[in-house]
Amino acid sequence: MQAVRDVPAPGATIGRPLRILVTNDDGVHAPGILALRKAMDHLGEVFVIAPGTNRSAIARGITIHDPLVVDEVEMADGHPAYSISGTPVDCVRLGALGLIGGPPDVVVSGANLGLNLGDDVTYSGTVAAALEGVMLGIPAIAVSQDALGGGSGPGHEYDFAAVTAFAARLAPLACAERFPRHVIFNVNGPGVPPGGLAGARVTRLGRRVYDDSLVLEGTEGSSRHFRIYGEPMSHDMQPGTDLSAIDDNLLSVTPLHFDLTDLEGMDRMARWEIDSLLASVAGVS
Ligand code: MN
Repeated sequence: MQAVRDVPAPGATIGRPLRILVTNDDGVHAPGILALRKAMDHLGEVFVIAPGTNRSAIARGITIHDPLVVDEVEMADGHPAYSISGTPVDCVRLGALGLIGGPPDVVVSGANLGLNLGDDVTYSGTVAAALEGVMLGIPAIAVSQDALGGGSGPGHEYDFAAVTAFAARLAPLACAERFPRHVIFNVNGPGVPPGGLAGARVTRLGRRVYDDSLVLEGTEGSSRHFRIYGEPMSHDMQPGTDLSAIDDNLLSVTPLHFDLTDLEGMDRMARWEIDSLLASVAGVS
């Protein structure tokens, strides 16, 4: 029989200042990472390792053909940071493997300029950095914020106050709680100022409906230039999802793990007699 786990109370800590690795995919000088780091400062020692350029939508990409170039830079408020030539996942690897003198207690990624909801999480560099923490056995939080009034990216206005303060409350809890399977917490804030928030909800991933189309933007010699992405997205109106929480001006928190195996699919496939499929392949005895 499995022992009943102690569930820590809100505000629980691991009994000492935390070592926190802050990273992102928008780049070391993006406003969201500055806001997130400032929100974490009071919890312990905060290290910043982030890409030198915007690496959004790179998912779990890693740098394998080139050396990783690390530069020591200052954030806008003078706090030291490592700017690296690699991806968000490279940042977490660098931190865990010794760049900051030992692995962090928790990885916090963001705050991303724009939401990472539903199927978006598989494209997201913000979420990938947090998932890398999980791969290494380190609790992790991904933080994303909708622009005020909706939309995403540079040129929009963001208020990171609520989502970063919330992540700072969540970080000690993520370290103290022992989930049977390692999870990351995917936190998304709706595009309202803190006073406009209707609350916070634990949610499941919803389904995006992408309205992308293939647009030929021009030609250059024998090359054609296409654009696919950038149309506004819609989504299934399912209650309980991260997408519907944001619709309702709720801050959304979704626990995610890395086990992509579909156990129900395994059950169904048991009827297929996979072994005899192989036996029917020419040349296999
Ligand atoms: Mn991004």
